[in-house]
Amino acid sequence: MSFDTIIGHTRAKKFLTEATRNQRVSHAYLFHGPMGVGKRTLSRALARNLFCSTNQPGENSCGHCANCLKVDSHNHPDISIPKEDPEKGILNIAAIRELQEEVHKTSVEGRGKVFLVRHVHRLREDTVNALLKTLEEPPPGSILILTATDLLMVKDTIRSRCQAVKLGPVPLNDLRTFLEQDQELSAHQSELLSRICGGSPGACVAFLKGGFLNQLTDHEAIWLGPFLGQKGTAVSHLLNLAKEAAGSTPSETRMWIQTALHLGLSFLRDLLILSDGIDPSQLRHVTSEACSGGGLPAAANVIDLIEEVLFACGELDRNLNPAVILADLEVRVRSLAVPA
Ligand SMILES: [Zn+2]
Repeated sequence: MSFDTIIGHTRAKKFLTEATRNQRVSHAYLFHGPMGVGKRTLSRALARNLFCSTNQPGENSCGHCANCLKVDSHNHPDISIPKEDPEKGILNIAAIRELQEEVHKTSVEGRGKVFLVRHVHRLREDTVNALLKTLEEPPPGSILILTATDLLMVKDTIRSRCQAVKLGPVPLNDLRTFLEQDQELSAHQSELLSRICGGSPGACVAFLKGGFLNQLTDHEAIWLGPFLGQKGTAVSHLLNLAKEAAGSTPSETRMWIQTALHLGLSFLRDLLILSDGIDPSQLRHVTSEACSGGGLPAAANVIDLIEEVLFACGELDRNLNPAVILADLEVRVRSLAVPA
């Protein structure tokens, strides 16, 4: 992946290109932005720009030299990614100690070393302290690229030692084109998906991989059913759907549920439009006629539930137990699903 094939992130790409051209690349970056927005992709593209054997500083990588091919095949000896605990989805102190040793080894290809450290907003205090040692005294030629979904959750001690680079949502037009051309979706599906996923290409891909497009009726029953006087499905049913559709690791299940909650927010957005009498042409999933039978809830209740779902997304990101999070949400749905 090269800077010119990454959709969106124009400012970040320009900033990093200038730094490379002027040979003022920082020893540590902190890429922060929503899940799936492209932090890892941009990190690898930056590494490819730095390692490419044929480009000049500030130029895009060529994509066909040995170094570029090794980056693309996740096989470059000078890119290290500390492994997270597969159960908890966080880095432990042993992984950071390995990084500390690795950072002082000589580059294999002679073009420096790049370390990609993910989810730094989730690091525990002892792991943060171990990482700080490397951030304080990086050997020349080593670049650390840290990533986080939420800058405010990253410890100040880390933030102050890195050059922060914000990655905002990808413009919807660009995302629609990507979905139509690269994922071969129809115009209607691309429009729906780009809006549900809030400008995040990774979330769109997770959505497709997780089989959500074929399950929209199930999710509609979970989020709208209880509020529209229909036979709803309990929120905890998401755990059963996750077992069928997500991968086998707890981390994959958490990712799937995270995507399911974002889809839930999209349905609740429709419910808010209906409850508040906003222009029905803004509805994404349902028509106002289809929902005219039941007594709508108060808009304030829908807003409360939207806040609860956003809170649940944050808790999932902090690695709390998905079953507990969904059980709490279910209680809130029951208490809020009353006609106005
Ligand atoms: Zn190259």
